[in-house]
Amino acid sequence: MPIIACRRCGKALQYEQIKDLPYFPFCSKRCKLVDLGKWFNEEHRMPGEKPAEEDEANDGAPPHRE
Ligand SMILES: [Zn+2]
Repeated sequence: MPIIACRRCGKALQYEQIKDLPYFPFCSKRCKLVDLGKWFNEEHRMPGEKPAEEDEANDGAPPHRE
């Protein structure tokens, strides 16, 4: 049985098929959201820039939400 480590917390995950892990490569929804959120924040915070002002300038486009 293959084992992977959760990308977020490192917890060992056993599975028979990838589809057995709904949050692959994470152990849980929480780990997935935390990791994606972290990535998202880092992606949007460029060093030396002020993200608040950039949001104001983006008025023309509707907010993109999943
Ligand atoms: Zn985890």
